[in-house]
Amino acid sequence: MKGRVFKSTGSFYSVQGIDNKFYNCRARGKLRLEGYKESNPLAVGDMVMFDVDGNEGTISEILPRTNHVLRQSVKRTEHSSVLAANVDQAMLIGTVSQPRTSVGFIDRFMVACEAYRIPQILIINKSDLLDEEAQQTVQIFLKTYSSIGIKVAMLSAANAASKEIVLNLISGKTTLFAGHSGVGKSTLLNLIAPWIKQTTNNISASSEKGMHTTTFAEMFQLSDDTFIIDTPGVKEWGLVDMNEQELSDYFPEMRDLRLECKFGSKCLHIHEPKCAIMEAVEAGKISLSRYENYLSMVSGKDNRK
Ligand code: GDP
Ligand code: ZN
Repeated sequence: MKGRVFKSTGSFYSVQGIDNKFYNCRARGKLRLEGYKESNPLAVGDMVMFDVDGNEGTISEILPRTNHVLRQSVKRTEHSSVLAANVDQAMLIGTVSQPRTSVGFIDRFMVACEAYRIPQILIINKSDLLDEEAQQTVQIFLKTYSSIGIKVAMLSAANAASKEIVLNLISGKTTLFAGHSGVGKSTLLNLIAPWIKQTTNNISASSEKGMHTTTFAEMFQLSDDTFIIDTPGVKEWGLVDMNEQELSDYFPEMRDLRLECKFGSKCLHIHEPKCAIMEAVEAGKISLSRYENYLSMVSGKDNRK
């Protein structure tokens, strides 16, 4: 039967078959997927073929992916670093206060998604904590992102009306939900899909007790064609292997412009003469904050924060 992986514990996989039933599955032997070195590179969101035996199953094949998202691996030897597969878009939830999400983190997340070819949504939550002036500052900040093709919204998960805003953004798609702990991701998930509550609470309860819990993504279905993938506890997003020259390809506002640099694809836009990117920053056409984050990424100084 054909199915989709909703949950993975590393050795067991919860797979929903095309009959809409869930099966507890194991992987058969060493499954391979073209382009992946590791055996059994199964991830949440994967489409699979599996053999049914009662409520259980054996996965016999991983179907080709449209894309994948990697988890930042702590050790190179880590079993598998694929966090989710077949994702239509990624939603990053951030906050300006309590806690403050750094702009560096936001830009690294967006760059990683660009490299995975996954469209992005940026949500600034907890708008109720901001006065009018601060809200205006956030709107200006968000304009930078909408101008480069990222969908944006400022909202409060504490406000029931935010449910519609989020549902409009995710309807008909598989959306990966990401955000640092404390930004209100669980609150937002509970607002749009209250039945998930149990699960998210359990996960945060166990990690608060300091237990060593490896984090796994989990997918939930909201309607026939709407899925969300929660990523509890994922703090960093693995950047695809890329060289310095490639990095500006993953900044949409630099991608085309970089061809006009005097040194062409060799230009790193740091101090080279006749650099179209630096000229655009000076002319205010490229956001200074995005450019500064580009610089810290290209120099590799700021890969985790
Ligand atoms: P998570 O770690 O991202 O899942 O964050 P939680 O959903 O657990 O929220 C962290 C804290 O922020 C909780 O105390 C929530 O009640 C609070 N919170 C979540 N959303 C909002 C919001 O929009 N406004 C305010 N003021 N607090 C919020
Ligand atoms: Zn340049």
